Amino acid sequence: MAGFPERVEPNDQNCLIPGGSAFFPAGREDTAMTNRDEPKFAIIGAGMSGILAAIKLQEAGIDFTVFEKADNVGGTWRENTYPGIACDVPSHIYSYSFELNPDWGSFCSPGSEIQQYFENIVAKYGIDAHIRFGDAVAGAAWDGEAWNVTTESGYADHFDWVIAATGILHHPKRPDIEGLDTFGGDIFHSAQWDHDVELDGKRIAIIGNGSTGTQLTGALAPRAKKLSLFMRTPQWVVPIEQTPYTEEEREAFRTDADLLRNLHESLSDSFHHGFASDILDKDAQMVVDMEAVCTAELESKIADPELRAKLTPDYTLGCKRLVVSHNFYEAIQSDPVEVVRTGIAAVEPTGVRTDDGVLHEVDIVVLATGFHVDRFMRPMDISGVDGVMLDDVWAERPSAYLSLGVHGFPNFFMLNGPNSPVGNFSLIATAEMQFGYIMQLVELWRAGQADFVHPSEQAAIKFDEERVEAATKTVWATGCRSWYLDDRGIPFAWPFPFERFTAEMAEPKLGDYVTS
Ligand code: NAP
Repeated sequence: MAGFPERVEPNDQNCLIPGGSAFFPAGREDTAMTNRDEPKFAIIGAGMSGILAAIKLQEAGIDFTVFEKADNVGGTWRENTYPGIACDVPSHIYSYSFELNPDWGSFCSPGSEIQQYFENIVAKYGIDAHIRFGDAVAGAAWDGEAWNVTTESGYADHFDWVIAATGILHHPKRPDIEGLDTFGGDIFHSAQWDHDVELDGKRIAIIGNGSTGTQLTGALAPRAKKLSLFMRTPQWVVPIEQTPYTEEEREAFRTDADLLRNLHESLSDSFHHGFASDILDKDAQMVVDMEAVCTAELESKIADPELRAKLTPDYTLGCKRLVVSHNFYEAIQSDPVEVVRTGIAAVEPTGVRTDDGVLHEVDIVVLATGFHVDRFMRPMDISGVDGVMLDDVWAERPSAYLSLGVHGFPNFFMLNGPNSPVGNFSLIATAEMQFGYIMQLVELWRAGQADFVHPSEQAAIKFDEERVEAATKTVWATGCRSWYLDDRGIPFAWPFPFERFTAEMAEPKLGDYVTS
């Protein structure tokens, strides 16, 4: 843990703790056991971030309960089970830094393998014993000293700290298309896959061609009798090799820990220090080069000029979340596939009618239409100081100081919360850094140097102003429709380089916090 400065000048937003010298108090003097010696933490969600928090709290000897609404761990990897699901970040980056996995099967792993990775880790650390499965948190209320967490089953208990690890891509978005409910066949969202529905030999419509629709197309094209891909906006598709690791390579990773660590670090370094920062700037050479690679791939793989035109984006690469694929262009040129660029007028009992009046008759409609990314923990009722509701604070849109905390919500922190670097950094590396930061605040509180901790209003406003200013200069704001944009059309993700994030996460600026 990075050390705290010995003295921080107070400002009007933080409060001096009585008996302390300047910002720092001498620390509590009583020796009796208090909740700070044996604090209780609530972790909301048992996905990647929640499992991380649980392991780290366990290592720190801190008592915790994980609340998980479903009956298994894994978060997005538990919920998304659609055919073709895989991670678009190399597996050796998409691993906890303390649990590198020599057994990844391929460069970018399929979803089931990632789910298994998380289940194995939960078993290894014995985290299951701390998880309340099938018990969704209904609310959390700050009573001035602790959080009263209540669940839908009626359970209630007090916790000193709450870590919300509820993810961002977990509220499926059904599109606003007329007649969706009138469809006579099977219709479901990609994140709510109905595995009872037979796919082979069926006429299938996929609405949406983001990362999900693209992966689905690759997986369903060989199985469908007819596959209609409804593509409102073409994507920049980055080619990747889906190379399996050989048994010899995996054995080498198993027996040589340095080899495995070096691979993780070199991939992480090039990803974070190259891609993560360059992609913010539309004029960066990396963006220009990547656009050239994608264009060359499109031109070499798609022979038909009419189809090529349908697939050619008219916005800057990186404006929308990049789609990567090893098989999309092959799949869409296979016999059963039709790319439909004409707008959807309505869904009818027997199919999808487009604006040109054509009815595309299908048996199954898959909605690969993305997620409500502004919900986070909601619809939970979360009330902070003086009963202020988080829903009211976030009435316009969610935001969080440094992506972690909200003014008025003491000892309540988020992993991969609003304004996190969802678009360009590894979510696991992000969560690990965020958790390390939060633990520094926890230690401050445990040492008796803070009654509680939450960002000051002034600091939160200042951060948000700076973030918005930077966001409007990123490639995400160059004119496209994407889930990165808030209701004003301003990108909500972390708009600064990776180095800024690591610097911020290295050590909290205590002057930005209210502590008593
Ligand atoms: P998405 O990127 O939000 O894409 C939604 C798609 O649905 C877009 O093509 C959108 O068209 C289309 N759409 C939405 N409403 C529509 C309507 N009313 N009519 C026609 N088309 C409509 O969602 P996603 O593909 O599920 O991906 C979301 C994110 O999940 C990804 O960006 C990624 O971060 C993550 N993800 C990752 C992986 C992975 O490989 N790791 C896989 C899947 C998902 P427009 O483009 O015109 O808006």
